[in-house]
Parts: sequence; structure tokens; C-alpha cells
Amino acid sequence: MREMLHTDQLRGHQAVVAGAGASGRSAAKLLSRLGAAVRFLEKNPAAVSDEFRAEAVSLGYDLRTGEHGPADFAGADLVVLSPGIRAANLAPALAACPGAQVVSELELASWFTPEPIVAVTGSNGKTTTVMLISALLEAAGRRVFTGGNIGTPLSDHVLSEEPADVVVLEVSSFQLQLTKTFRPKVAVLLNFAANHLDWHADLDEYLDAKLRIFATQRPDDTAIVSEELRDLLSGRPFTRAGVTWYAAASGFLCPRLAGVHNQANMEAAYLACRAFGVDIKLARQVFADFVPAPHRIQIIGEKGGVLFVDDSKATTVTAMEAAIRSFDRPVRLLCGGVWKGGDLEAMLPLVKEKVVAVGLFGGSREVFETAFAGVVPVRYAPTLAEAVARIYADAAPGDAVLLSPGTSSFDQYPNYKARGRDFQQAFAALPATPAGGAGQGA
Ligand code: ADP
Repeated sequence: MREMLHTDQLRGHQAVVAGAGASGRSAAKLLSRLGAAVRFLEKNPAAVSDEFRAEAVSLGYDLRTGEHGPADFAGADLVVLSPGIRAANLAPALAACPGAQVVSELELASWFTPEPIVAVTGSNGKTTTVMLISALLEAAGRRVFTGGNIGTPLSDHVLSEEPADVVVLEVSSFQLQLTKTFRPKVAVLLNFAANHLDWHADLDEYLDAKLRIFATQRPDDTAIVSEELRDLLSGRPFTRAGVTWYAAASGFLCPRLAGVHNQANMEAAYLACRAFGVDIKLARQVFADFVPAPHRIQIIGEKGGVLFVDDSKATTVTAMEAAIRSFDRPVRLLCGGVWKGGDLEAMLPLVKEKVVAVGLFGGSREVFETAFAGVVPVRYAPTLAEAVARIYADAAPGDAVLLSPGTSSFDQYPNYKARGRDFQQAFAALPATPAGGAGQGA
């Protein structure tokens, strides 16, 4: 049963929440509703909006900005760390509250979530798969809360006290790393690729965090794992749940989800929903009509017979590779940004086969130039708009211009959405045919 939220069950307890992002704010509200005294820490004063400051005053938080130290954690019974914060880096400060539980917002909110949870993690495809799962469950008549990393924090759902039959969550390794009892009825691991190595100590730590999704599952729960991970996981007893290994076996099709990787995502989504009354016939219908979120191999339009595709959400090399693979026409690839790691070397055969030109923009020029030089013509432009104009100038009818950067966007944009919108604007500004010499220059 859902625990009642008005029982003041944390009255007399001191909670510390660090990080004023959406999940931290939501966790603090939940803690406050539970009667805890909330101390809220945010390192960057600029991250505290007027709106949040007013919220903090009205809910009686002890809001502290600037570098935090041991005094800020003293007396805490419970510490909730936002995804951007590494517990390991806080060790000296956390020593001030040796008895405290240190958890993520996901863990905290899960204590008050009685509904069965379907949780999805992986390096790529989480959002798409979560949306597929929710669409399937809704088509089967279930009331669904969809959230976690994809948007609304689970704490918001708990606070809303709105009834749901199933809770579908996108969960990140950051949130998983600080879970203890979080137990999904169905847990999905889509894939595992070098990613977030800027955050995790190493690949092993990243894999361990991902595998926490299965750690507390019971034998009557379900673990759904990509067949591709069988070797990686062999010899690692990662779950007590029944494991279903999957590949793109059912031949699901969605006109708006290109590529074998999306067929695999559909397979995983279908398998995750079988326990909730979704059969293969319903799955085929729902997938046929499914509309994915923007900036994921999204067709923007055509000019001069050249197709333009926005895959700005491809922030990893694996996602970039999946996108290139999904085309059966010559690809003119636009990439660049903040390098997060990945194996460009391994994708050279694919690049040779499908990519006819590479347009680099923004950061990590040297990484891509070094990898692609001699394999395919590479040109650099400082901005995406210039790179788009140049790559179009050289394009032939039948080509695809693909923005699939393989990096995060923070060198030039606030997020991948802004990068995608910039690409779409650059497309809109192009002449109707490539001819016109925009391709001249360095
Ligand atoms: P996430 O939420 O994990 O970032 P998204 O569904 O938003 O995943 O997709 C992010 C990027 O990864 C997109 O470029 C998409 O085309 C690509 N992608 C989706 N599924 C897969 C997959 N199974 N393998 C590789 N790349 C994928």
C-alpha cells in the first residue's frame, strides 16, 4: 500500500538535499510534506531562481548556497544527492553525518511508490523505449505515470497522490548508483556503451551502477536484457529475477522509428509489457502509430532531393553509429561538440561504407579529424549553421544530411534540443537547391 504522506513520519528528522535541479527540488518538497526539517544546499547561487527561493521560504527550508562543507551535513539523518553530485567527492563533508542514509531522489520516492514499477536504463534508447512502454500500457487500458529521467521526477508523482496502475521510469546510472531498496517489477537494460566517462570513475563503475536496476529484484520479477550484453554479463550474477534476453526478433515496424536498434527497442518494450496484458497484436498496432520524441533520427524535410535528419539527441558514438546504420543512402554526417568518450575506430568500416562526407562543428575537432582523416573527406566549420551550408553545397540528390553529433552540446548550446532547433533553422535558411557555391572555403 502507498504510505500516507500526511503522517509526519519524518517529523524530527533532519534531511539534507543537495542540488537545485528538478529532482532535488521535488525530493525536498516530498521530505517537507513528510515533516522532515529540510536543509537545501546549492553550490551555484545562480542556479537558485527567484521562484525556487520563494518556494524554499514558503516550505521553511534552510537554503544554503556556495561551497558546502561538513557543517552543512552535520546532524543529517538522510541526505539526498542530485544526479550531478558524486557521493565520493563529498566524502569529507559526509563524514559529518556518519549515520545518515545517502540516497538519490529515485530511491527516496520509491519508498512511497506502491505501484509496480517498470524501469528502463541503458546507454542509448531509454526515452524512446519508455515512451513505447507507456504507449503500450495506455493502449491496454492501464493508468500510467511516466517519469524519472525523462521529465517528471517520481517524487512529483508521489506528491500528487494520483492513482496509477503502473509507474514507468527512465532511470540513469547516476540515480541508480544511490539506490538501496528500489525494486522494479520489470527492469530493462537496453545496452551499455562508453558514456558518461566524464562522470563515472571508470567503465566498471558505470556498469555496476546500471546493474543496480536488477539488484533488489525478486524471483517473480522480470529482467529484460539485450542479447548483446550476454557476454559482458556472463559470470556476473546480476539479478534473482527471471531474465529474458532479447533481440529484434518480432520484426516490429514503426514508420517513424528507423533502424534495427529501434526494432530492438520495440522488442524490449513489448516484452516489458507482456505481464500487464499487452499482446503482440496490440503491440504491432501501437508501434505502427507511435510518434517518437523530437531530435531522434527525426526527418526534418528535403531540399534539392537531399534529406535532412535531426538526430541531435545522439550524444554518444553508439547512437551516432546506430543512426548511420539506419540509412540506405549516402550519408553526409555532421558531428562535433563535447567529447564524452567512445570508440570511433570501431566504426570506421561503417563510415567507409555509408558516409561520403563529414562536417565538423564546434568542439572535439581533433578527436574526429584524427579518427576520420584518410577515410572520408572531413571539413570543419566553427558553427553548425556554417557546417550545414557547406555540407549541403556539396550534396547530391539522394544523399542524407544527418546531424548525429556523438557528443553533448554544452560547448555551444544549453542542451541537445537547442542544438536540434539550430539545425532545423539552418535547414530552413538553405536555398532550394545545393548549387550556389556555399561550399567554398576552408
Ligand atoms: P536516451 O534516453 O537513452 O538518451 P533516446 O531514446 O533519447 O535515448 O535516444 C538517444 C539517441 O540514441 C538517439 O540518437 C537514438 O536514435 C539513439 N538510440 C536509440 N535507441 C538506441 C539503441 N538501442 N542503440 C543505439 N542507439 C540508440
